Amino acid sequence: MLAILCIDGFDNDLVDFFKLNMTYEERLTIPRELFRRDQPFTPNIWGSMFTGDIFVHSDSKYIGETGLGKLRLIIRHFLHDNSIRWFRSGLNFWKDKDSLVQYGSFEPNYFIWRKEVEKSVFDDYHSFIYAIPSVSDNYMFTSETGDLERYEVFKLLCETIWRYNYELVGLYTHYIDYKAHWTLERTKKNLFQHYVQVHSLAKGLESKGHDVIVVSDHATLFNHKNYAYIGATFPFEAESVLDVYQVIKEYLKNQ
Ligand SMILES: [Zn+2]
Repeated sequence: MLAILCIDGFDNDLVDFFKLNMTYEERLTIPRELFRRDQPFTPNIWGSMFTGDIFVHSDSKYIGETGLGKLRLIIRHFLHDNSIRWFRSGLNFWKDKDSLVQYGSFEPNYFIWRKEVEKSVFDDYHSFIYAIPSVSDNYMFTSETGDLERYEVFKLLCETIWRYNYELVGLYTHYIDYKAHWTLERTKKNLFQHYVQVHSLAKGLESKGHDVIVVSDHATLFNHKNYAYIGATFPFEAESVLDVYQVIKEYLKNQ
């Protein structure tokens, strides 16, 4: 099995600083087309990485790129502040009966990104993916609670997914980017535990005889940086985030 741990905001410099390096590592460039407002743009990069081609999320072309206009955002804040139950599709009280993903909890979800990529590298293999922006269905950027919940699921999957016979697995977490970018606790000291966690999850998979790639869409400490991290348990060649696709293909061809 090849397991790809997709860590949003995983930072090359912090990996070095904490001395949590993997055996093979590279600093990846990010094509300018994947930037938005002068910064690497998360949904574009994950979509491009797993299709091997420039992918620009359609929502990101517009100023109201979240799909939530200002007014809708104000309304959601109002509902949240007044503990009024709401649904992603609006105040539709019938929806929850026949759908799995309708509750927004009481926290506003600020960004909703639908799956946009038609076909990713995961479609070519017996694979399993979890919550990758642009690649997984109904991916959503949410508040810290949502990120934390999904970080717990991410960790659980890292620890158990090897029991199933997948060729290729992609597991995503946004939590580290959130911690490094949006919160007041965005210090190296506070990020250390999460970097150790990712490192030990990768080591755990390796100890079970699987190969692992740890990859980020861009590094983050306070702000998004213009390069991304990739580390692996096997030798590879990659210069840009677009090359990750070929790294996966090459690896699986040789199995
Ligand atoms: Zn990101």
